[in-house]
Amino acid sequence: MAISEFDLIARYFAAAGAQRTDVPLGIGDDGAVLACPAGCEVVAVTDTLVEGTHFLSGSSPASIGHRALAVNLSDVAAMGARPAWALLALTLPAADESWLAAFAQGFGALARRFGVALVGGDTTSGPLCITVQLLGLVERGRALRRSGGRAGDELFVSGTPGDAAAGLALERHRPATDTAETRFLRERFLYPEPRVALGEQLCGWASACIDLSDGLAGDLGKLAAASGCGATLEVDDLPLSAALRSMQGPEGAWRLALTGGDDYELLFAVPPARMAAMSAALPAGRWGYRRIGALCAEPGLHVTRGGGVIEFSHRGYEHFSG
Ligand code: ADP
Ligand code: MG
Repeated sequence: MAISEFDLIARYFAAAGAQRTDVPLGIGDDGAVLACPAGCEVVAVTDTLVEGTHFLSGSSPASIGHRALAVNLSDVAAMGARPAWALLALTLPAADESWLAAFAQGFGALARRFGVALVGGDTTSGPLCITVQLLGLVERGRALRRSGGRAGDELFVSGTPGDAAAGLALERHRPATDTAETRFLRERFLYPEPRVALGEQLCGWASACIDLSDGLAGDLGKLAAASGCGATLEVDDLPLSAALRSMQGPEGAWRLALTGGDDYELLFAVPPARMAAMSAALPAGRWGYRRIGALCAEPGLHVTRGGGVIEFSHRGYEHFSG
């Protein structure tokens, strides 16, 4: 590598994240020392992005830096925790300084926005691969789980699922003309907005929560199964963006919203008894979520359209599936 590992870390990563007072020892020693406040538990998540699998070869380094942290922020949000500290394991084919500067900018801007300190990591050479570990804090016993739902709980989703999958398709097959709509969809893939504030607010209201990474239908199946339930979902209630509807048509739009990946929205269940108070505390319009169905006793996913049952089967995106 042209630039030494030491210089690379000092130049691009030492000050990339937020400054926090609960980091007695950050980057530079063999390990970081983190001060966990009394009464809190730590939520730990990690996610890897591999070139060619999780992002296209040659994609924008700023977007790769953003997404590497965003997917982890989304997991922490789904647990109802507040993100605090990150570690970054970076495998690089070469120390390309303009690539590193843009990557660190994408990662750092998001880290600072959510108050996340970068407290350590590892830098090696090899095929491009990024692993982030993120630690979040939650009040003892309050973390959200997938397993807390019960039959009768209402189901909600944030944002407009399906956009990211449409955006990825546009990134793959670059259309000749870029419109406001194609730009919107591409941005939704390249720069997902993790629902950190919503996740934190859902503690005390939601009985179960999951973030959408592999497609709404598959991820809803995971939440329902973990909760020992099935789920009903009404297609006409799916929040679809105007851009997605115009690009895919009405039929293609809801299909992509159910099956497309990379949304990083929150899907959560709320017991009916808490509905009125939650709607008052977290108005759906302001917080950007919508009711799409309910948990039910019969196992499986029961999809309806205009109230009528329709055939729908999709398992979501799974690695190693064939
Ligand atoms: P060691 O050999 O003891 O694991 P390194 O020389 O690999 O230590 O790393 C030196 C310091 O730099 C450590 O504090 C480590 O956490 C940090 N570090 C290494 N790579 C990165 C990175 N990509 N981002 C942030 N911190 C890093
Ligand atoms: Mg060491």
